Amino acid sequence: MTVDVLKANELKKAAPVFGQLSFDDHEQVVFCNDKDTGLKAIIGIHNTVLGPALGGTRMWNYSSEWDALNDVLRLSRGMTFKSAVTGLNLGGGKAVIIGDAKTQKTPELMRRFGEFVHSLSGKYITAEDVGMETADMDTVREVTPYVTGISEDKGGAGNPSPVTAYGVYMGMKAAAKFRFGSENLQGRSVLVQGIGHVGESLVDYLTKEGAKVFISDINEARLQQIQERYRAEIFTGDIYSAKVDIYAPCALGATINDETIERFQAKVIAGAANNQLADDTRHGLILRKKEIVYAPDFLINAGGIINVYAELEGYGRKEIMEKTENIYNTTLEILNAAEANDISTHEAALKVAQQRIADRKNRR
Ligand code: NAD
Repeated sequence: MTVDVLKANELKKAAPVFGQLSFDDHEQVVFCNDKDTGLKAIIGIHNTVLGPALGGTRMWNYSSEWDALNDVLRLSRGMTFKSAVTGLNLGGGKAVIIGDAKTQKTPELMRRFGEFVHSLSGKYITAEDVGMETADMDTVREVTPYVTGISEDKGGAGNPSPVTAYGVYMGMKAAAKFRFGSENLQGRSVLVQGIGHVGESLVDYLTKEGAKVFISDINEARLQQIQERYRAEIFTGDIYSAKVDIYAPCALGATINDETIERFQAKVIAGAANNQLADDTRHGLILRKKEIVYAPDFLINAGGIINVYAELEGYGRKEIMEKTENIYNTTLEILNAAEANDISTHEAALKVAQQRIADRKNRR
């Protein structure tokens, strides 16, 4: 074991929660255990200054409980800033269930999890994330009202992915306006990495506008399907050195990292994936130096949370789309602020979110 690993292990033992690398003044962390259903879950409540902590539940076969804890701390913090920068009256929270969603998820386990959510009396409101389906949220709804993303026939706002894609499209147009002087994407080359729920919808918007769309995915069947459906071109070769105008990461996080960052030739990065920068501060600054305009992920992928927020506030489709469309204005403001202050676009977005939270706290 290296010295660093030994030190990290010592720290974990000495300060198992507050000493975690991802701990950032979280308000509350709740460990949920139920022997009968096999439930082991952690709910992370990062900040509730702006409102109840809303964020999805992820079920994942974590390699260790430390990984699960760090994930929930990191993800819940991200939700605080996503909602704050979007102007929603929501705080940041997230939950993780430790286990394999394919083999260990049962209605009993989901109901028991829902009871733990309910015990927080609305301080945390859950939703769908990786490993969860709308049907699971319907099960949670049986035991608590503190859940969003339930089926439309049960009063929910339905599938958030098309709304997320619309927000990404708006953010991309704002970044294009900033970088190329025009928001028009006709003739612009865009490489969409990951053509799942969000990626496909984004491809739809882009092809309708006349962009030259390239697609990439690890799922071959999906690639063929989307190629035929939208006449997009399958991209082969190294994604990161692709000579395209815009790179749209819509698969995994951390694709902008030490190994890839120097290879980028795209002039704009705008996609749906969460946590695109492996190191927010360092990689954000390198992109700035390379004059690559990065539309912060947590700002432009907020369509999904706007969609579930509608369930709480009781507004309809028209308002959801208007609020999502506003991502265009917010993105442009943040890109301009980053330029004016010579900081990364990620930092500029974070500052806006932090300021909104500080203002609300001061007004209390
Ligand atoms: P999804 O699972 O439907 O699609 C992901 C796609 O990426 C799949 O087609 C998968 O085959 C592909 N993929 C996985 N690894 C890949 C790789 N290495 N290279 C290329 N393709 C790869 O997920 P989604 O709901 O479309 O979400 C996409 C991203 O956006 C995720 O990072 C998600 O966290 C984020 N996001 C989604 C929403 C939403 O509303 N769905 C909201 C905010 C953020």
